[in-house]
Amino acid sequence: NEVVSFEQVDKIYNTGTVALNRLNLSIKEGEFISFLGPSGCGKSTALRMVAGLGDPTKGKVNVFGQDPKAVIQKTNDVAFVFQEANLLPWRTVLDNVLLPLELRGSDKKSRKEAAIQVLEKVGLKDHIKSYPRQLSGGMKMRVSIARAMAAKPKLLLMDEPFAALDELTRQTLQMDLLNIWEKEKMTILFVTHNVYEAVYLSSRIAVMSARPGRLSTLIDVNLPYP
Ligand code: ADP
Ligand code: ADP
Repeated sequence: NEVVSFEQVDKIYNTGTVALNRLNLSIKEGEFISFLGPSGCGKSTALRMVAGLGDPTKGKVNVFGQDPKAVIQKTNDVAFVFQEANLLPWRTVLDNVLLPLELRGSDKKSRKEAAIQVLEKVGLKDHIKSYPRQLSGGMKMRVSIARAMAAKPKLLLMDEPFAALDELTRQTLQMDLLNIWEKEKMTILFVTHNVYEAVYLSSRIAVMSARPGRLSTLIDVNLPYP
């Protein structure tokens, strides 16, 4: 039940920057793994590859045993949450969450039910008719997480999702994310440069060195969660 594997992955951008240098990593189903390391160490580069955004220069990335691009094209198994919520400003909260569901065939009523259900989970039931500009940063991030979860992904990719939030909001969202992870049993890959965040959230931490892409060590975190 391996979900993601990096096998001897190099990434050298055409500017000559070495972003990843022989990265090896195997991620199992149900893990909450953080990629932790200083800015520029290649965390985003690694995460984007899992989403099929950018190919390794050398080596191989597999998602569910397949080419990431194929998984993204053919299934709803992978979802991505970025640092910015990236909501469509002219659409309501509900319509933003509906967006990924509309790209698929299910009927309108069940799409709407699914979207409202997932908005309830992130505590936004009372804001489904609001527009993004009417929401705080934390609420926008909740919508972004709801949108990612609407299609029931097995693998959730998150790139510094809470970095732009104030400390209190960040703590609340961290707790909520842990609850979601426990309930939904998905695998989460989480990029952060914040040691405390990685330790608090993850079941395992992949520490990446300041020397680009070198995975220094893997740390198992004993959380009071199953
Ligand atoms: P992190 O997420 O750890 O901050 P990144 O994966 O974003 O690191 O970047 C790793 C290195 O690759 C950095 O030196 C960055 O400047 C460089 N880099 C990232 N994206 C590109 C790109 N599209 N073109 C050239 N260099 C890039
Ligand atoms: P639909 O109603 O088909 O779901 P959208 O909700 O995506 O379409 O867009 C609603 C309207 O907003 C469309 O008329 C569209 O042209 C317009 N629109 C598109 N991009 C923008 C934008 N950046 N800012 C404001 N309105 C936009």
